[in-house]
Amino acid sequence: MTNTKNDFQNNELRRTIDIKDMWKWQHLEQVIHETMIFFNYQEIRPPMFLTQDIIDKVYDVDKFTTIVDSFYRIGDEDDTYLRPDGTISYLTHLFGSNSVKDRNLVYYVGPMFRKFGNPNDVNGQFHQFGAEAIGSDSYVTDIETIRLGLKIFRQFGLVNTQLEINSYGCPNCKHKFENKRYKYWQENEDKLCSECSKSYANFIRSAENCKKCNTLWLNSPIIFDECCDKCTENFNVIKKNLANLMCDFTVNPHLNMSFPYYDNIIFKYKVPYKKDYLMIGGGGRYNNLVKTLTGKDIPAIGFSANMEPIIAVMENDKLFPVRKKPFQVYILATSQELETSLLQIVQELRDNQIKVIIGPTTKNSSKLVSTAQNESCSIMVVINEDSIREGKVVVNDLVKKHQQAINLRDILPSINRLKKTLSNK
Ligand SMILES: [Zn+2]
Ligand SMILES: [Zn+2]
Repeated sequence: MTNTKNDFQNNELRRTIDIKDMWKWQHLEQVIHETMIFFNYQEIRPPMFLTQDIIDKVYDVDKFTTIVDSFYRIGDEDDTYLRPDGTISYLTHLFGSNSVKDRNLVYYVGPMFRKFGNPNDVNGQFHQFGAEAIGSDSYVTDIETIRLGLKIFRQFGLVNTQLEINSYGCPNCKHKFENKRYKYWQENEDKLCSECSKSYANFIRSAENCKKCNTLWLNSPIIFDECCDKCTENFNVIKKNLANLMCDFTVNPHLNMSFPYYDNIIFKYKVPYKKDYLMIGGGGRYNNLVKTLTGKDIPAIGFSANMEPIIAVMENDKLFPVRKKPFQVYILATSQELETSLLQIVQELRDNQIKVIIGPTTKNSSKLVSTAQNESCSIMVVINEDSIREGKVVVNDLVKKHQQAINLRDILPSINRLKKTLSNK
């Protein structure tokens, strides 16, 4: 296992949410909500739309990469963009609303939009969850943020999640480093493949997983040669504390983020998937982004994770919990005249916490037995003219394959009895 797919090569980011998979998304979201709240984070709903002035400021943070080209612009004239991530969107909202508190711990879950390396991409919707810790510059918050992500992945069952860390340095160190690496790219342009030589951004994005360019990538400059004492010390303290907490990590001096706006600690989470690794999330400190977007000196760090690849890995590794089928009753009437009785019985059952599925009104009720079974119903109640004349309905035990006529007033107790027998099994 050597290859690690990043966002731009990650086909698992593409997935239409199928109705039959909805419960998997709900399972993920439930784990996210519970764990975030346990860590004292509050949910927010960052805006979907971003204005041009915000995009310009993001672009200002780093002119080397062309990440803004992968954002979706709406309309021809309108300078509105769909949110490419939660962080920028949240910051716009937070600082626009003048409700900045000294400290904020927030999380979000929702769709994001990006063209993954293809300018004509029209289907770049994917789903992320993420957390942002605003207002603390301490390494304690750095460690806590990294660990929060790991905790959630562990709750998903992704116990083999691996952590890679790197630093982007302070804006000074980063600037020196990017200039050096840019120069390196220029000097080696003729040795690179056509894709990696096309642009510096392409080189950063693709060279790691490019057969021809991988060696040149591994020999490219690293930030640590440019780091000032403060950046070096900061990174060492984080390493020391992660080790102290028995939190396994690898320092990858070539680790890169899709978004250029980070400074100092950056990190990514990856998991084994088939014969490769998948990047499922990552984050870092973005003090400089806050300053650029808002003009305020408020430190911040966060992480985000992509839900589609997480679901792909969980399906592959069979990590979704086995769903216990609830007790359900399938009910139908054999003619329209009996539908009033049907509604009364349904109401009685539901008022007593019994889940009911109403089938279509039809003379041929036996045809619907398999439908009821496919819906995981244990009992089928048929209201037909012959039995209702005697004040009864037909109750069909689909598990024991046994049916009997039951008095209308005895429906609830007899269904409750059947429920009990089934749950004791
Ligand atoms: Zn520095
Ligand atoms: Zn290449």
